[in-house]
Amino acid sequence: NVSHELKTPIGALIALAETLEVDDDAEVMKRLAGRVLHEAERLGRIVDDLLDLSVLEVQAAPDRSAARIADVISEAVDRLAPAARTAGAELTIAEVSEGSIVCDRRQIVSALCNLLENGLKYLDDGEEAVRAVAIGASRDGTDVVFHVTDTGIGIPESDRERIFERFYRVDRARSRQTGGTGLGLAIVRHVAHVHGGSTQVRSEEGAGSTFLLVIPSGLSEGPPMQDASP
Ligand code: ADP
Repeated sequence: NVSHELKTPIGALIALAETLEVDDDAEVMKRLAGRVLHEAERLGRIVDDLLDLSVLEVQAAPDRSAARIADVISEAVDRLAPAARTAGAELTIAEVSEGSIVCDRRQIVSALCNLLENGLKYLDDGEEAVRAVAIGASRDGTDVVFHVTDTGIGIPESDRERIFERFYRVDRARSRQTGGTGLGLAIVRHVAHVHGGSTQVRSEEGAGSTFLLVIPSGLSEGPPMQDASP
């Protein structure tokens, strides 16, 4: 899979460069250069995501410290605020439970960013459509349950099991068009796994999706941790 996914943009880059080499129409050259940039950026994102995944795969246990749940959520929302503006979507924080979680803050923020980014990417483009993504966190016993809900296109039931697999896409063309790598949810699942947690998805086609990231709060385990929140 990896070699196929890497070969596709590389093949496109070679073909584009070969055309550029023989074409001297300024307009055509400009258009082709734009496509070279697009393919190169896509390749860059795939390599970045693959590196993130391989770090997660070899990691025995995440570096943990205590962070306020609200701070973790705000950091993810701040990062995606520009993308929400570009998508013309409302990005809101729903109820967030008080308290802290012992986790690798960078990894949890990255997982939440992937979920928010997907929520924004797979919104319904129809003129009448409500375009909204919300994030929050609640507690279930000793677990912290992060949830990201969107009013997007939803996911067919037959695909729901498979979307966490690397490079699995429901609609390849849409994923490609929105700059997807097909690795976002694989990263989310790995982050959950190394924290001893899990992921869940609920969805209704045409109405939207909710992704849950369930992470043990870790507060009752082991010696007290130092608070790493700013
Ligand atoms: P991609 O880079 O393609 O978005 P992901 O691993 O993040 O890859 O997601 C895998 C696939 O799951 C996507 O291609 C898309 O078909 C589907 N998907 C993920 N999140 C959502 C969502 N919030 N709404 C609808 N479909 C989604």
